[in-house]
Amino acid sequence: MSLIVTKFGGTSLCDLERVQAAAQKAVACRQEGHEVIVVVSAMAGETDKLEDLGYSISTRPDPREMDVLLASGEQVSIALIAMAIQDLGVPAMSYLGNQVPVYTTECHQRARITEVGCEELRRSIDQGAIPVVAGFQGVASTGEITTIGRGGSDTTAVAIAVAMGALECRIYTDVDGVYTADPRIVEQARRMDRVTFEEMLELAALGAEVLHLRSVEYARRYSIPLKVFSSFIDGPGTLIVEEGESMEQPEVSAITFDKNEAKVTITNVPDIPGIAYQLLGPVGDANISVDMIVQNVSRDERTDLTFTVPRNDFEQSLEILRDQVIRLRREAEDPTLYEMEVIGDDAIAKVTAVGLGMRSHAGIATKMFETLAQYGINIQMISTSEIKISVVIHEDFCELAVRMLHSAFDLGAD
Ligand code: ADP
Ligand code: ASP
Ligand code: MG
Repeated sequence: MSLIVTKFGGTSLCDLERVQAAAQKAVACRQEGHEVIVVVSAMAGETDKLEDLGYSISTRPDPREMDVLLASGEQVSIALIAMAIQDLGVPAMSYLGNQVPVYTTECHQRARITEVGCEELRRSIDQGAIPVVAGFQGVASTGEITTIGRGGSDTTAVAIAVAMGALECRIYTDVDGVYTADPRIVEQARRMDRVTFEEMLELAALGAEVLHLRSVEYARRYSIPLKVFSSFIDGPGTLIVEEGESMEQPEVSAITFDKNEAKVTITNVPDIPGIAYQLLGPVGDANISVDMIVQNVSRDERTDLTFTVPRNDFEQSLEILRDQVIRLRREAEDPTLYEMEVIGDDAIAKVTAVGLGMRSHAGIATKMFETLAQYGINIQMISTSEIKISVVIHEDFCELAVRMLHSAFDLGAD
């Protein structure tokens, strides 16, 4: 019998009616003749509430304790879904991450899944039950509870699908597929029947919450068919696919945005070898991922270095860099060389156009800059790769920019 892993996100579990609807979908999948594993996230808004609680009690909450706190959200939803499935006459068993077990690295709040134990899930299925697994959480080899990053239950679902040799992984959410832009922001956004892994990786990395980045990476690496469906309505959904030769390649396939970053600038940086390493090394050592680095051409042997970091790590990044600047000045033979200033801005948004067609179409950047210029939107930073162009702008213009670019690249429904 073929196994299907179905994942229900928080947005699909906003109330008890939705919990029952998710249970019905899982049972229907089984009635089609499949073995089924359900992976769930916490009910809508619960993880945010828990995170807020942590930050209300402590200005910099201990990551270990935050994991214990955040993991409790999924404990509620697995039990409720399991009970709802049982009420439909089908046996179900809930599992926390450490009961599966879903093994992870030890890095609290950003752990990575290293292995999934299959024995217990297999035993449960063989006994006729639907296992209901808590997404987003796992257990380190030390026995510590870990979480794998916000939005991570998609990744739990794919990791379980890979480990269990599933036929496919279905992600049920509040939209009926992957769109040309976030449908909450762009009314004209269009569902795509298919999107390539390559584009989906860029979209997920650059703000499209619909799939967690690592779920796309795993599914691609292990060739697990990954599909996005609505948990509210039936429909064809979106299939994430490898690029085929005959696939039409519009110049831009989708526009996405990310408001979860902040910008850090170090001014007056001496233009000497090793300085970027000395400044960014301690930021990396603190496990803060640095993105979009821009270093300007030097004037008078001084330059400005600007980069973005996750907004949650903004204050800590400023602190680390200010300490580092003081240290470098103190230890330098010529302290005047190190008259740097660290400034930051967290009111930014990154807006990105993604498309495989960029490889073969010229002028896409120009069209993007022209569109932003028409609406008086100032570009603060730019970065490009083979299939994407990102700009950093003021966050107040984010939605306008996304809508205008979506329309400029003609992505809307006819
Ligand atoms: P879940 O709780 O089911 O995991 P998420 O909130 O993580 O759901 O992801 C679904 C949301 O992703 C949608 O409500 C939608 O607003 C947002 N989203 C952003 N970009 C896109 C896109 N390109 N296509 C579809 N949804 C998108
Ligand atoms: N409940 C977790 C979160 O809100 C995990 C997830 O939704 O995938 O981030
Ligand atoms: Mg999600």
